[in-house]
Amino acid sequence: MSTKHVSFFASVEKNFDKAAAHTGLPKGLLEQIKLCNAVYQMRFPVKVGREYHVIEAYRVQHSHHRLPTKGGIRFSLGVNQDEVMALAALMTYKCAIVDVPFGGAKGGVKINPKNYTTPQLQKITRRYTTELIRKNFIGPGIDVPAPDYGTGGREMAWILDTYLTFHHGEIDAVGCVTGKPVSQNGIQGRTEATGRGVYYGLRELVSFKDDMKAIGLEEGMEGKTMVIQGLGNVGYHTAKISQHEGGAKIIGVAEYEGSISKPSGIDIDALMKHRKETGSILNFPGAENLPTREAALELECDILVPAALENQITVENAPRIKAKIIGEAANGPITADAEEILLKKGIVIVPDMYLNAGGVTVSYFEWLKNLSHMRFGRMEKRFNHNTYENIIATVERLTGKRIGKKERSVITKGGDEIDLVNSGLEETMITAYRQIRDTAKRNKKITDLRTAAFVCALNKISSDYLALGIFP
Ligand code: NAD
Repeated sequence: MSTKHVSFFASVEKNFDKAAAHTGLPKGLLEQIKLCNAVYQMRFPVKVGREYHVIEAYRVQHSHHRLPTKGGIRFSLGVNQDEVMALAALMTYKCAIVDVPFGGAKGGVKINPKNYTTPQLQKITRRYTTELIRKNFIGPGIDVPAPDYGTGGREMAWILDTYLTFHHGEIDAVGCVTGKPVSQNGIQGRTEATGRGVYYGLRELVSFKDDMKAIGLEEGMEGKTMVIQGLGNVGYHTAKISQHEGGAKIIGVAEYEGSISKPSGIDIDALMKHRKETGSILNFPGAENLPTREAALELECDILVPAALENQITVENAPRIKAKIIGEAANGPITADAEEILLKKGIVIVPDMYLNAGGVTVSYFEWLKNLSHMRFGRMEKRFNHNTYENIIATVERLTGKRIGKKERSVITKGGDEIDLVNSGLEETMITAYRQIRDTAKRNKKITDLRTAAFVCALNKISSDYLALGIFP
């Protein structure tokens, strides 16, 4: 095992190669899938106050085997070409795993958004979008960005508005970007989709009694102890939904300013309120401040959820990780070398390319909504409601008994957009996990879920190429 620094893209390639050995696919085809199809590196000036800042930015389309390509846009000082390539590659595999018919892409703008005012950020986002338009790197049938680290609905609305300016009258133009605010052609449930998907994925994992027994745990989410790194979009919603809907106990949290632990459980909304009021998660009533920001990762717990950034668990801290399960909510939080150490310790790693696929899944629903120009549920909600009312009326007539008002309204409810989105997401995460688990069970040489997930993805992507007859 080497201890030298491995780049993020090299780490993804290493995991790819490990899985490729189990597929029996032709070498040329594997090479075609593995490499990035298009890399656009750009520099553009933005006037900030009296100065001009030259901004470095990227858009990478990893695979054109399906179009459009899809992937978030990251605003972070850590952005570089290697990182964007790695994240774009992960998007290709992620989409395949959850049967979202897109190729993978990713964008990155090398800025710390905290150093800019809102109007300055708007200027940068609009200029970045213009660069993408100029090179034909954005469009509902070409490449569809979404939020990622450091961006959200606000930035997506700016991207949409810029795109519309250049594509006036294009009927499907609003499908050029997803993760938009609901009022701006977005979809209910997109904001929390990644965290909700992480919860569904973990809930499915812990529902298999034998798998849990093998690592000394009971089945089910109720009472599982959890540590979360990063209380941003993904981390916060994962924590909140796991706590409220699954009954998990959050015993540790790590954020930029430090980390805390509280064995009796942290109320995540109370912690968010505390952070808003004091500017920090530290000194939260009843919790202990830990010595470093990374210390929470080393707490004893059932499930550790890194939800901040890549390369958080490395060969340096991997030997001290005590969690039984690591759910990769962030992309690439464990380096390939660190993974070897963790797997030897018997830790179950739920890979990013599956676990955080909820975001792209609901982005796909949003894109479909945009192309159909109608919200989900509009056609069938009332029809279903009336059908259920008729069934209830018949049951009441036949039995001579009345069903209570509250119970009746639950039974006869037709699905709203949010119900359909969450149900589609739940179905997607359950089905994909079962495919990954079955792949691992069928091939005894596959001993980890990441390799199994990669094999699932490679089989699906390769069948697209093989159908074209490009590779014999
Ligand atoms: P975000 O910007 O909303 O939140 C990230 C949080 O992590 C912030 O609160 C930040 O302060 C914190 N953080 C940064 N460095 C940290 C450190 N060293 N220790 C502890 N906390 C730290 O970003 P996000 O959208 O939640 O994305 C987080 C991760 O999830 C990224 O890897 C991203 O690629 C991945 N992801 C996001 C989505 C999505 O829909 N937003 C989808 C799939 C994957």
